[in-house]
Amino acid sequence: MLLSALLLVLSPVLSAYAAPAAAHDSHDHEHTTAQRLPAAWYQPRGHPVHQLFSRATTDGVSYPAVGTPEWSQGWPQGVPDNTKLPSAWVNALNAAVAAGKIPNIPQSSNQPNQNPVYPQGLNPNSPEICSATYKCRNPEDIWDAPNGTYATSFDDGPQPASATLLDFMSANNVTGTHFMIGTNILNNPDTFAKAFNLNHDIAVHTWTHPYMTTLSNLDVLGQLGYTMQLIHNSTGGRVPRFWRPPYGDSDNRVRAIAAEVFGLQTVVWNQDTNDWAISTNGNTVDKVVSTLTGYLTGPKTPGLIILEHEIVDGTVQAWINAFPMIKANGWNMISLAKIVDGRSYQNAAGSSSDDVEPGDILVGDENNSTDTSDDGDDSSSNATS
Ligand SMILES: [Zn+2]
Repeated sequence: MLLSALLLVLSPVLSAYAAPAAAHDSHDHEHTTAQRLPAAWYQPRGHPVHQLFSRATTDGVSYPAVGTPEWSQGWPQGVPDNTKLPSAWVNALNAAVAAGKIPNIPQSSNQPNQNPVYPQGLNPNSPEICSATYKCRNPEDIWDAPNGTYATSFDDGPQPASATLLDFMSANNVTGTHFMIGTNILNNPDTFAKAFNLNHDIAVHTWTHPYMTTLSNLDVLGQLGYTMQLIHNSTGGRVPRFWRPPYGDSDNRVRAIAAEVFGLQTVVWNQDTNDWAISTNGNTVDKVVSTLTGYLTGPKTPGLIILEHEIVDGTVQAWINAFPMIKANGWNMISLAKIVDGRSYQNAAGSSSDDVEPGDILVGDENNSTDTSDDGDDSSSNATS
């Protein structure tokens, strides 16, 4: 009864990605454990994200193996067409707008690689807009790590250069949070799987890396939703908890869509080495290491969230060169997605060692909570939205 209701809810979202059982191939043996979802949801039962990415008996067993033809089919090849978004996402957005949860802020506009600007007369630092591009800090967003903590994260992966980074981190027994671009996941499935299987945390960095405040509500929805869906389908059903806006460009409208529809918390940064410019010869490995040295030998209040990238060998090498200074200067190093309370995903607590059998946990709607195995109920939730 509950299951059938659940599948009805799921079908609009999942139909495009439904995987034949035959999609499982010999790659599966290495994913079997990790694909099981640990623990439970930690959102209020009524949050739309439950319906959009429900945990079902099929989670962890019915998605195509990462990298197979079935896995890569059916996704937008570039900017998502906002007339073809899953209706469940659009309905959730419309409900949030109708409930007054999405501020009615005009879209910004920009020239290529320039900061977005709002229509004349609107102050990006006003409480109504609060643009992160202009360093307005909405208190619901994450900008700082706890004192003394170095929160590890890398943007724009997975890329070919990511493999070197992952090997280095594995050899040093550390993990990090990877804010991934959806189309990069499609293009680098092996590196994606490597990161996930090494217990790194996967977070959202949009589908094609746009300035998000320049987009319509529907385009914001597509950029976040497809990336959520691909990560969900590729991690045994995990639902990302954090997203980072490309260029740090978010405002109260964009962050509300992320939070109210998808349950995502926005993460920015408090230091920036401009390491990305190594890829355009606008910066050098040595200069980035020098900048990192300044941060790592500097004050520990607040803790560090440094914008760093895994886009090319040089950006990875700069971080590798600076790595010994993290420990040498006494920083508590932790994957960024774990700095709030250790939970990296919305519907999974802890690590794969907390595995439960697929299907042990079912989440229905508010009126259909008869399942006894759900230990992610409201009383134990620690909602972030
Ligand atoms: Zn980026």
